[in-house]
Amino acid sequence: MPIRLLSSEVASQIAAGEVIERPSSVVKELLENSLDAGARTITITVEEAGRKLIEIADDGSGIPSDELELAVSRHATSKLVRSDDLFSISTLGFRGEALASIGSVSRMTLTSRVQNELEGARLRVEGGKTGKRTKVGTTVGTTTRVEDLFYNVPARLKFLKSDVTERRAIDSLVTRYALAYPHKRFKLSEGKNITLQTSGDGDRRSILAALYGVDVAKQMLEVTAEEDSYRMTGFISSTSLTRSNRREITFFLNGRWVHDGSLSTALLQAYHTLLMVGRYPLTALFLEVRPEEVDVNVHPAKAEVRFRNQDKVFSFVQRSVRKTLLAYSPVPNIAPSLWGTMRTQPSASNAVGLDWAIGHDEKFSVNNDMAPENGDLSVEADAQSSTLTSQASADVVDRKSEIENPSFTSIPLLRLIGQIGATYLVAEGPDGLYLVDQHAAHERVLFEKLMTQHAMKNIPSQSLLTPAVVTIPPHSAQLLIIQLPTLQHFGFDVEEFGPNTFQVRAMPALFMGSDPEMALRALVEDFEEDESPLQNEIEAKLAARVCKRMAVKAGQALSHEEQRALLIDLEACDSPRTCPHGRPTMIHLSVDMLERQFGRRGAR
Ligand code: ADP
Ligand code: MG
Repeated sequence: MPIRLLSSEVASQIAAGEVIERPSSVVKELLENSLDAGARTITITVEEAGRKLIEIADDGSGIPSDELELAVSRHATSKLVRSDDLFSISTLGFRGEALASIGSVSRMTLTSRVQNELEGARLRVEGGKTGKRTKVGTTVGTTTRVEDLFYNVPARLKFLKSDVTERRAIDSLVTRYALAYPHKRFKLSEGKNITLQTSGDGDRRSILAALYGVDVAKQMLEVTAEEDSYRMTGFISSTSLTRSNRREITFFLNGRWVHDGSLSTALLQAYHTLLMVGRYPLTALFLEVRPEEVDVNVHPAKAEVRFRNQDKVFSFVQRSVRKTLLAYSPVPNIAPSLWGTMRTQPSASNAVGLDWAIGHDEKFSVNNDMAPENGDLSVEADAQSSTLTSQASADVVDRKSEIENPSFTSIPLLRLIGQIGATYLVAEGPDGLYLVDQHAAHERVLFEKLMTQHAMKNIPSQSLLTPAVVTIPPHSAQLLIIQLPTLQHFGFDVEEFGPNTFQVRAMPALFMGSDPEMALRALVEDFEEDESPLQNEIEAKLAARVCKRMAVKAGQALSHEEQRALLIDLEACDSPRTCPHGRPTMIHLSVDMLERQFGRRGAR
């Protein structure tokens, strides 16, 4: 084939591919234009997840009538004149590409009016072809209406995800921009529902609640830091609030949402040792640097940036976050008076039955007379455990397999000694001492009961006398609606009860007495974007999540009866040694180990 110049329509479509990938990219570009135009109020309307319609109306400066054609042509911008300006950009846009790109892959109508003109003008662009400008009466500002996105690029359409996912991308984009610009009023409607509305009063916490829900928002720590020419504000999650992926890590740089690996790394370093492996914080951080300090022209959608002084920014972010975390030092899960120190997160080396180093003092000697003669720890048994001796000795034989695969091995029958720190149960077994984490253990117990009932398709459900009405963030609400039948299988009777609001009318009898609102929130928390995992995987995840919330907490005093019941239930579990999330439920100090630690056997 001979070489030919591409027609302008094809060229624009190719270029559009870089900038306009999905409906939320349109929303992003139009939002940025409104913000650049100094709008105070921005109204976004979306239909069919943006496939049918995206309309953004603002009260910004507007576009002069005779410049409308320019606005929609490629490389036409009012924000940049000389190439030097590229290095001191203070606007969000500068490439002059967005409107041209959007116009080439949709039917776009641009309506605008500036202050000193009496009338506004309207221009339509369809698949890159610009129509005739007409005069219209309208208020000062700009309305960009984008219909039938990708109608002429069917390949693109095929790459779009489900409506839920596309809508969620729009939601989270708009909510994050609302958070970045708390002094502007945002309104987002999808179909007939208003999914977000902010007052523009500058209060970020309330927007945070719209993004993450009230519970989570309450647990976010506020960051304010300033150093040389750098400034950072926003929120980070406390160490007790984490997610299983990095999706909730948000950075804005000079008012623009960026995805920057080094910023996230700096953030994660600040959390180092404070979070368990595989857990990530939630953040919404707003970084401001002098425009000369950063090159924003390295990515077509401006999502990536390059810093002039990368190390300095990195360390500023890392230190500021760390300082905030330490200032709010983690709330101890157990009463410090009982333990003197704060609980640390279990680390991977704390795996079941592994080395439990007990610090000892050379000069300290054990009064041997006090200890049982031959190291046999079969202490006076109470009625319960004496009947179980044969079972117990059988268990010792089993110990080898226990070492090979600790989490799937049953545990011996245990004799309860008591509770310490309102957090751990102390028990004795045929082979030493067991420290049981009451929360992890209860999580395991609830999880196995629920899954067993579920497998037998018989989860006893109990109606609530007064149904609980719960409002949850819009994106979770959308996902919840899809999962309602699953919840039904689990004994939850939940119904839609207005926009983003649900009514819990019954819940599994297993959880009776617990807070139904908390149960529902637990179910939707951390909803995965992953769209088609296996249904039984979803169900196990849901079950694990709700059991975690419903389980007794560390720091909760339990009656002797409750402690005993918990141990008995745990003994009956198939995998009693780990909680459904894989953490150990217990630490075992074997007789062997105790003897070695006390110098009764081996060296010394
Ligand atoms: P860029 O934002 O990179 O300049 P765009 O294609 O997004 O490029 O917009 C082209 C021009 O149209 C802008 O430079 C601006 O002058 C004008 N414009 C676009 N949207 C608006 C708006 N909402 N309000 C005022 N002017 C706008
Ligand atoms: Mg723009």
